[in-house]
Amino acid sequence: MTTPQTGTPLLFETIRKIKAKLDGLTPLERDLEVVMRIGKIGEEAGEVHEALTLALGQNPRKGKDPEGWTKVENELCDVVFTALVALETVSEDAEAKLAERLAYVSDRTLNLT
Ligand SMILES: [Mg+2]
Repeated sequence: MTTPQTGTPLLFETIRKIKAKLDGLTPLERDLEVVMRIGKIGEEAGEVHEALTLALGQNPRKGKDPEGWTKVENELCDVVFTALVALETVSEDAEAKLAERLAYVSDRTLNLT
């Protein structure tokens, strides 16, 4: 297992490595790979919902998973990482784009009255 990376620059260093590795492994042409990487965000979001269903014990047929909330956390991380790889794939500077968008969203939200 690799050492966890924290902090935005280290996070993006890892995301760039993952993106480069995936670029080297895919058999698909770029545009189709972009479609698949963006689609995978939805796949991971579905996994969050599945974990949430088990964490809450909402489906009586499947019961309640005592590790459910840990799985929810893990799947939420997968959504973030998958989205960052997709962003790195389509953006000239994903790290700057994320910072720009975070500033926009935080301004909009923190200025609510
Ligand atoms: Mg997952």
